[in-house]
Amino acid sequence: MKLLIVEDESKIGDYLRQGLTEAGFVVDLARNGLDGHHLAMTEAYDLLILDVMLPDVDGWRILKSLREAGRNVPVLFLTARDNVDDRVKGLELGADDYLVKPFAFAELLARVRTLLRRGAAPANETTLKVANLELDLMRRRVTRAGHRIQLTAKEFALLELMIRRRGEVLPRSLIASQVWDMNFDSDTNVIDVAIRRLRAKIDEDFEPKLIHTLRGMGYMLDTPDEA
Ligand code: CA
Repeated sequence: MKLLIVEDESKIGDYLRQGLTEAGFVVDLARNGLDGHHLAMTEAYDLLILDVMLPDVDGWRILKSLREAGRNVPVLFLTARDNVDDRVKGLELGADDYLVKPFAFAELLARVRTLLRRGAAPANETTLKVANLELDLMRRRVTRAGHRIQLTAKEFALLELMIRRRGEVLPRSLIASQVWDMNFDSDTNVIDVAIRRLRAKIDEDFEPKLIHTLRGMGYMLDTPDEA
């Protein structure tokens, strides 16, 4: 899951980037509205976190451009002003949620996860399931045939990507950009190692095998009949 943060206050920007990266997201940070506007309009993100007050192109303008271009990526607004007019304006322009500074990181993370679930799945879906594998998105827990499995944040992100795109062949380049924010050329071995670890945790001791290697193409997650 790839997020864009547009925030001119460097402390807040760095803090959000670090926290969200540790939570397993790939995060781009733009420190002004111009760069943020450019990235929002040219790159594909699963969610945007926009500061309202930016010195050049403000958060409203970025949101307006996105919606005018027909891009309905979820947008979470950050504002220092607890102002009803701001809130109304944001929602009218098509913001999905609103957070007033200062906020606790846990609150932001909860909102981000809610918006991502809403965007990617039915609103009440908090669990992803394939065969006897279950991902609890709220509690970040993984179970296979009822056994709890400990995954790192990156492994969880990798597994979530593979389940959400179940049945699709995922090239290493796509996995690298979605989960590690790396280019294909940098070190594809990282992907192979991560897949091997994930497979050892979720597939080795269980049936049916869910992670499949398609030689020369990439990886896919599916049940054997459908694979
Ligand atoms: Ca600001």
